[in-house]
Amino acid sequence: MRLDLHTIIADPGRVDFDCDIVFEGTAVPSVVAFPAPARAEGSVINSAGVLTMAGTLSVKPVLTCDRCGREFERELVFPLDAVLAAELQDVENPDIFLLDGDCVDLDEIAADAFVLGMESKILCSEDCKGLCPRCGRSLNDGPCGCGAEPDSRLAVLGQLLSD
Ligand SMILES: [Zn+2]
Ligand SMILES: [Zn+2]
Repeated sequence: MRLDLHTIIADPGRVDFDCDIVFEGTAVPSVVAFPAPARAEGSVINSAGVLTMAGTLSVKPVLTCDRCGREFERELVFPLDAVLAAELQDVENPDIFLLDGDCVDLDEIAADAFVLGMESKILCSEDCKGLCPRCGRSLNDGPCGCGAEPDSRLAVLGQLLSD
């Protein structure tokens, strides 16, 4: 969504926003789908000539667990913080977004907030037991019957000792 800021481009003031954001897809491989649009809420304030966005992005994607492969939905909330500028004076600052005329692309800012906010490792739960290395069954469903799990740390130690 394009957020029209013409009322505060030159004058102090604020523009509130509260809208749905539809993500088509993201660069985050653990994200399977977005069953519902994300919600962006917040405001842009012109204070002493600086346009600052502050808000939150709420989204509930379907994710896959990096450890057991299970799909699950999780509600996530990310900060929507950005400085908006007509031109890039500081190319090194990734938090500055360019205005397009009097508007800013809220979809782009929201997509960035989502990608940057996602943890690199997605787990269905903190104590996800993962898959059995032998039969591939999810150990979250209970023991698979393959017998005692070899402790990977002990296996490494055993390898070191035998070398
Ligand atoms: Zn898992
Ligand atoms: Zn097994």
